[in-house]
Amino acid sequence: MNETNTAADEASSPLGGLTIDFSADGGSKAPAGGSFGFSPIAIESGAVAAPGGPSSQSARGGRTHTKLLVIGSGPAGLTAAIYGARANLEPVVLAGSAPGGQLMITSDVENYPGFPDGIQGPDLMALFRAQAERFGTHIEDVDVDRVDLTGRPFHAWARGVEYTAEAVIVATGASALWLGIESETRLRGRGVSACATCDGFFFRDKEIAVVGGGDTAFEEALFLTRFATKVHMLHRRESFRASKIMQDRAVAHPKIDIHPNIVVEEVLGEHHVEALQLRNTASGEVDRMDVQGLFIAIGYKPNTQIFGGWLDIDPMGYLVVRDETGSKIDGVFIAGDVHDHRYRQAVTAAGDGSKAAIDAERWLESQGVTEASTATAW
Ligand code: NDP
Repeated sequence: MNETNTAADEASSPLGGLTIDFSADGGSKAPAGGSFGFSPIAIESGAVAAPGGPSSQSARGGRTHTKLLVIGSGPAGLTAAIYGARANLEPVVLAGSAPGGQLMITSDVENYPGFPDGIQGPDLMALFRAQAERFGTHIEDVDVDRVDLTGRPFHAWARGVEYTAEAVIVATGASALWLGIESETRLRGRGVSACATCDGFFFRDKEIAVVGGGDTAFEEALFLTRFATKVHMLHRRESFRASKIMQDRAVAHPKIDIHPNIVVEEVLGEHHVEALQLRNTASGEVDRMDVQGLFIAIGYKPNTQIFGGWLDIDPMGYLVVRDETGSKIDGVFIAGDVHDHRYRQAVTAAGDGSKAAIDAERWLESQGVTEASTATAW
């Protein structure tokens, strides 16, 4: 029940003949110059590409230089790549070892324009990725370990490879939060999950619980009714953050029971989830609920760790933007959920990605890094 792998399998499912490899090392398995639609130029390991000079990529380790480096591969990052590629910025996307962002662990997406019947999150991200690659984006499914944003060229290191770039777009998104109790961690993958899309199938004819009171929790609960006999929604307060339409659907669903003012104190079970120890926050009463699964849907943490010391971070942990998509560093742009705690939608993240790419393009032009300087590189 590995969430990411399962989601990755779904991402590979045919969608109008489209097959995308989202495995952790999918990028490295792809033949150089093959699926990406361009031929990277190999340079000697350790050789430094001149800033603004030809984009370059070593075959093994070494240095990769590009005009536009995008860190992150959710809707913001991949939209930035689509726009950047079409502006001839030859983007390199460092996509992370679990590429695709939050939509990879989202089931039905019903509010992304253009899909009147809805679309599965992983399928939507497969389309984003295919579109970015179609225009020559190079995508590596690696985590960035550290960055140096002192100035042009900017540096990023991932899996032993140093990347340099004339401009950077940070689109690292946000990660799922967990309750943080020991039994939750111990039983993760043994009945505890943060991804209904990935793991719901394993709970056919079982009774399960979902924690949270936002749209994610309601979406997960509704999705899980396809499998479970009963879905208990556990929320720590009386009122819910979720949109009214999602709440109404859950209230009307015969398989969903909503329990306000409830927190999970322990997940019970030796080898797999057998029950929950619950506490009523209003009465203080402690109770046991027999369930075989627990889905955590309590929000996200922005992925800003590697930018500490370089970019401004607000008290909630989100990156601070200046002038729409800018940062305190010229040439470093920010897009998507890593800064947006207000809207946090796939479509707003995508819009943000397009804005960041346009801003990066204009900034590069102002710096004399133009299409002409590297047009023949790839
Ligand atoms: P939210 O931050 O909106 O909600 C998180 C929920 O988890 C809150 O109800 C919060 O409780 C609860 N919570 C947080 N920490 C704990 C904890 N330690 N223990 C118990 N409960 C906890 O996150 P979501 O992921 O639901 O949504 C994020 C954004 O994405 C929202 O803007 C949402 O609208 C959007 N979204 C839209 C979807 C769609 O349109 N299809 C689908 C999914 C998400 P409390 O309220 O008390 O703080």
